Amino acid sequence: MTINALSAIPQIGKMLEQAFLSPYIERLSQPVVADLVREQVNGYKKDHLRNPEHIPFSLETLYSRIERACWQVNQQRLQRVINGTGVIVHTNLGRSPLDADVWQAVTEVNTHYSNLEIDLTTGKRGKRKGLLQQLMHYLVKGEDTLVVNNNASSIYLMLHEIAKGKEVIVSRGEQIQIGGGFRIPDILALSGAKLVEVGTTNITTVDDYLDAVTDNTAMVLIVHTSNFKIRGFTQSPDIKDLADLLPDHVVLAVDQGSGTTTENLPDEPSVMSYIKAGADLVCFSGDKIIGGPQAGMVTGKQSLIKRLEKNPMMRAFRPSRIVYSLLEELAVRKLNQLKTGQGIAERSITQAEVTLENKAQQLAEGFGERLRIVRSEMTVGGGSLPDQQSPSSSVEVNAISLSADKLLEIMRNWPLPVIGVIKHDRVQLNLATISDDEITYLRQQLAALFDLQLRGSCSNVTDTKKVEAAI
Ligand SMILES: *Cc1c(COP(=O)(O)O)cnc(C)c1O
Repeated sequence: MTINALSAIPQIGKMLEQAFLSPYIERLSQPVVADLVREQVNGYKKDHLRNPEHIPFSLETLYSRIERACWQVNQQRLQRVINGTGVIVHTNLGRSPLDADVWQAVTEVNTHYSNLEIDLTTGKRGKRKGLLQQLMHYLVKGEDTLVVNNNASSIYLMLHEIAKGKEVIVSRGEQIQIGGGFRIPDILALSGAKLVEVGTTNITTVDDYLDAVTDNTAMVLIVHTSNFKIRGFTQSPDIKDLADLLPDHVVLAVDQGSGTTTENLPDEPSVMSYIKAGADLVCFSGDKIIGGPQAGMVTGKQSLIKRLEKNPMMRAFRPSRIVYSLLEELAVRKLNQLKTGQGIAERSITQAEVTLENKAQQLAEGFGERLRIVRSEMTVGGGSLPDQQSPSSSVEVNAISLSADKLLEIMRNWPLPVIGVIKHDRVQLNLATISDDEITYLRQQLAALFDLQLRGSCSNVTDTKKVEAAI
């Protein structure tokens, strides 16, 4: 009987032709799905043979096991999610999404051959960075600018080229860790530079820096403490005073971090403000606030930028044409003051309170007690503007029998996953980071959830499949 039942299992090849697997093959590839099917068939056979009374064989159960396994693997694929956290540049959610128009605009250059390293006027080998140097000059006033793959590389490159075997003076208040495992003192050690600490956690003065300068000092590194803020009795040096008083053999470098150029974000010192104050080099990320692709940029004195570009590590750090083309496109749009050149941080943080309230009303409309509009706050996040919060509107979800944690989990597993936050034991969705077109999706998914709940059948993640079916 048992053996007969098992012989009803189709061959793997036949099984792969089942309609329910075709979207998974499309998303995950045929070999990955074939292995998942094999694994599930073997597992199910074993379970059944071990305990045929309790686990009677059914093809339907086998298929649902296979589908669940495929679903779980599919969740690991990089995919769009809805950010309901109110944290605009969210490190776990891909930081700054690119503007769709900017992305569109570079399709042609990236899907064809390009003049990446040929000078079209002379036919000779050309520079990789194209027009970016000039564009950045208008945006941030640096004489020259170079691009690497991320800002961590910028810092390493500056230290390695300028301060290897020499001393770098850093304030004790700025020896920070940025994200997972990236610590300023560690990267300094890696680059072969010697750290000289000055000041205290809360106070560092211009004299602290000047007193620490020796003949062997190569650099003063100022790090914008962008992912935390020390409040109260604090003092950091005026960059202009420091620039004026430092001896010529010491390079004044600033890790600005977020990359603020023309964006209208008060209280975040811009890259240009550091250059104007006399910094020799300023480095920053290409995505966080400026709104481009992940990249790092170093701008400042041309003689120093040229040196950095000749460093052998530049070969390892140099970005692809995808990055250059996106940055060029973005810079032009910024200089032309187009909305599409703003970047997500500026676009989101400058939303009017009434716009956010309207979005919350649109989302909540018709859901009665289930969705309640509450006041909340948004932040830029991602290592920018640590102290700054702006008013926002959120929608609080009343999911009756579900705990907040369970509801978050269910939402993460929706067809278009949603990342919410828990406030006062309830799940909230913050409209600051939710776009207009996402409201429709959210309403559909919430409606399906509430509908299932009414019928008493949505208690765990597997039921997200039912949500999907209901939409
Ligand atoms: C974000 C940040 C970095 C790291 O930038 P990546 O682009 O993630 O490498 C370094 N320094 C500061 C001050 C930052 O804010």
